[in-house]
Amino acid sequence: MDDREIYIVELHVPSGRKFRRWRFRDFSETSPGTYQAEYGKRKAAKRLRKAEKYGYRARMYRKRYGRSGTYRYRFMKAYPPENGKYRCVYCGKKIRPDKMTVDHVIPVDAAKTSKKAQRLIDRRYENGVNDLDNLVPCCYRCNQKKGSTYSRRWRIRARYGRKAGFWRFVHFVRLLLFLALLLAAVFFAHRFQVPLRQLFLPGALCPAVF
Ligand SMILES: [Zn+2]
Repeated sequence: MDDREIYIVELHVPSGRKFRRWRFRDFSETSPGTYQAEYGKRKAAKRLRKAEKYGYRARMYRKRYGRSGTYRYRFMKAYPPENGKYRCVYCGKKIRPDKMTVDHVIPVDAAKTSKKAQRLIDRRYENGVNDLDNLVPCCYRCNQKKGSTYSRRWRIRARYGRKAGFWRFVHFVRLLLFLALLLAAVFFAHRFQVPLRQLFLPGALCPAVF
């Protein structure tokens, strides 16, 4: 069956409620309290109704919008680390592979439920939300900060952040800014005849002016 026609029914069993395993034999537990099974569209709709009948929180979505079990492995295989490190696309920090998280630029949570996210995915990614083009290396902190948002700002940062040339440019601009500040300081010192040593000591400016 084409991946586009496979649907996943996902159900959550609230804590304290029993999971009726014999009624949902074809479901397997993907995380504590969450169970999933794959069907064609019509059967999926039927199973969804049944899950709801038993009072579980349930939803169905196309498989291409759901998290795959292998996306991290596929990502690391396609993009091995450079000199043993990855670079967070959002902040530029270098990360060890074991500390690296693989971020879905358009998040799985949004893909499952939002029509807008699904449209973006269909337009850009042949293989759905787990397409290699939707995956970026990311540090834990940025991943937490991003959460399940995918505003244009994050998407642009993801696009440029994965280019090494972008970070070389950023470092170059930072260096230029630093040099400009240094030059301004030297100019300032010369203009007001402040000894340079005094300029760079904290709190040294005020007495120097008088
Ligand atoms: Zn980061």
